[in-house]
Amino acid sequence: MNSNRAMNSNRENDSGEVLDTIIVGGGQAGLALGYFLARQGRDFAILDAHQRVGDAWRQRWDSLRLFTPAKYDGLPGLPFPGDRLSFPAKDEVADYLEAYAGRFNLPVHLGVRVDHLWQENSHYAVTANGKRWESANVVVATGGCQSPKIPDFAERLEPSIVQLHSSRYRNAGQLQPGPVLVVGVGNSGAEIALDVSRTHSTVLAGTPSGELPGRHGRAAARFVLPVVRFLGLHVLTLNTPIGRKAVPQFLGHGTPLIRTKAKDLAAAGVESVPRVAGVRDGKPLLADGHVADVANVIWCTGFADDFGWVESPVFDDAGRPRQYRGVVPQAPGLFFLGQEFLFAAVSATLPGVGRDAAYLAGQIPLQSTRPVAHHRQEA
Ligand code: FAD
Repeated sequence: MNSNRAMNSNRENDSGEVLDTIIVGGGQAGLALGYFLARQGRDFAILDAHQRVGDAWRQRWDSLRLFTPAKYDGLPGLPFPGDRLSFPAKDEVADYLEAYAGRFNLPVHLGVRVDHLWQENSHYAVTANGKRWESANVVVATGGCQSPKIPDFAERLEPSIVQLHSSRYRNAGQLQPGPVLVVGVGNSGAEIALDVSRTHSTVLAGTPSGELPGRHGRAAARFVLPVVRFLGLHVLTLNTPIGRKAVPQFLGHGTPLIRTKAKDLAAAGVESVPRVAGVRDGKPLLADGHVADVANVIWCTGFADDFGWVESPVFDDAGRPRQYRGVVPQAPGLFFLGQEFLFAAVSATLPGVGRDAAYLAGQIPLQSTRPVAHHRQEA
């Protein structure tokens, strides 16, 4: 492990101190914030459910490469290594994050899944693996891939059909022989459909929300993606009318295809069909009334937030925290970072999270730590 302080144990906070800040989630968002808090000399801990820094990326599908070029993928203080116009593979991102935690000696505690967060008097408490931690501030940086969304009718598909959500898809070796239905034409659906089409007859259900113009690649990294990044960082933000108008698009309807074009899918033999509307006789029923006779279904239907473990009245009807740039006016000391469109179109991406982290680090009030009664073991 590269990280000097990354720990796989559960023995932390034994001193019974109230920490200044707990960051829940040690992905790129939690680490970027950790960088700034460390520079401020704060007493903080990053708690992460995974066994290794970078595992959120390691666990994505094998052929995944970033859309964003390396020149924009570095977090504050450490450029992404290698060719600046290349698109790093997902394991390279994971290894970069692990090296980042090590370089800045960030206090990441691994294998710690927080299952409850609540306010208690003037501070916050969290529990994880039966242990309790306390801090003046808590930042929720658990990412946007918390709870895979799969339609309820999926359970009525006949048991012989292999079903996977995109979050569990690694490669076509997980599938059985026979046709594959990929459901959902976001970027994940389009890329996974191309991946499986190399070995399986593939059908892709749904309609994309457009395509970025031009061909993705090194030339785009040089000339087009700088413009896209500028728009995502400075134009499409909560501070602009056009940015506020774009929020529902980003949250609900998916973003345009970035790398894969409809014509690439057609050239690879991927058949495009209407969306899946239900189940008939144990098979997927399409919106045009046809039944898809397939052996495998991959649900590329996105993720829902799951803040069920956060006990706080700060969520709106859609389950999103009421916040501005991660600050929750209703709950001083509680913060969010890394969520889709937290502040800008790029808030949930490597090119955007560093700026949000820098801003948040300036908003988290510095508390002097104070001793409390002994560390308690929860029942
Ligand atoms: P995550 O990476 O999901 O990290 C969250 C961390 O929180 C995890 O380590 C998890 O273990 C931990 N955690 C969660 N719940 C708890 C809990 N209760 N207690 C303790 N720990 C917890 N962005 C780009 O910039 N470029 C790209 O090309 C790009 N491609 C993408 C491709 C895919 C398929 C996906 C899904 C996303 C992509 N993104 C891309 C978007 C974004 O960069 C990633 O989703 C990134 O992983 C988000 O980082 P994060 O730190 O916010 O969340």
